[in-house]
Amino acid sequence: MCVSKRNLTFFLLLLFLHFTSENIYSQFSKFGLVIHGGAGTILKKDMPLEKEAEYTAKLNEALSAGYKILENGGTSLDAVNAAINILEDSPLFNAGKGAVLTEKGEAELDASIMDGKTLAAGAVAGLKHIKNPINLARLVMEKSKHVMMIGSGAEEFAKQNNYEFVDNKYFITEERWQQYLKIKETQDKKHGTVGCVALDKNGNLAAGTSTGGMMMKKFGRVGDAPIIGAGTYANNSTCAVSATGHGEYFIRLGVAKDISSLIEYKNFSLDQAATEVINIKLTKLGGTGGVIAIDKNGNISMPFNTDGMYRGYHLSDGKPVVQIFKN
Ligand code: ASP
Repeated sequence: MCVSKRNLTFFLLLLFLHFTSENIYSQFSKFGLVIHGGAGTILKKDMPLEKEAEYTAKLNEALSAGYKILENGGTSLDAVNAAINILEDSPLFNAGKGAVLTEKGEAELDASIMDGKTLAAGAVAGLKHIKNPINLARLVMEKSKHVMMIGSGAEEFAKQNNYEFVDNKYFITEERWQQYLKIKETQDKKHGTVGCVALDKNGNLAAGTSTGGMMMKKFGRVGDAPIIGAGTYANNSTCAVSATGHGEYFIRLGVAKDISSLIEYKNFSLDQAATEVINIKLTKLGGTGGVIAIDKNGNISMPFNTDGMYRGYHLSDGKPVVQIFKN
């Protein structure tokens, strides 16, 4: 190939400008992440102080893992992945270990992840043996031609990629088993999920959600968490969203994409959009739950219409904050 000297100089100049502008951007732009660990009937009066401290510590650990990645110039996708792994591995939350159980008394896990820069997305549903479902969702995004894979097919794909398999019993904690037995009698429905949204130094947004779904769900039931546009959505030109709550309602409203669309088409601020969808639309339809969201400028919003939502954020211009109850 023949490249003239002039062309080469021009090319090098462009390359230089590209890297310096990205550096300048990354030095001054705001970055950070928001996490959730599920919404529901979470009341201060019912929570022993030690339990509250355990939740707070775990949420802080997840925040700090994600924040460190962002601070060191890592990607929002890596931050989301790392924060969610910590929550999946903790028996406190309804994702990975500690997931709620189906009517049959098994754990069936769903997860999804989305890259706001490219709109690439990966999702998995109905997993029974994958320790960290969010990792498999990411693998689907990065190593397959597809967006969503389910059940035994998804697990077969995991096997081909040397994924860590665990027995279904790994997910089932004593507490969940007792809850299952109790709920079996009362038919009370419990929910809770984990999620993370992040903005990195290069202005890239990402979102991820991982869950065991809803307690006593029918085997084979899939909720909103692995549905791109319902439980998870990220687009660099608008925002990144992760949801938690009664999934059927979130699917019917396309909650996460709806929030992004209100910003895109109606010029809503992030908080206006998230509040409109959760506190007005979802509530009107009879659904319960909440979302965490961050926009391209580092504004955040965490509306919910339940008694509480395990949540936290750490932005580059402030300190980490963790909250559980209303107010
Ligand atoms: N949204 C999840 C589902 O419906 C459950 C939850 O967030 O509590 O599967």
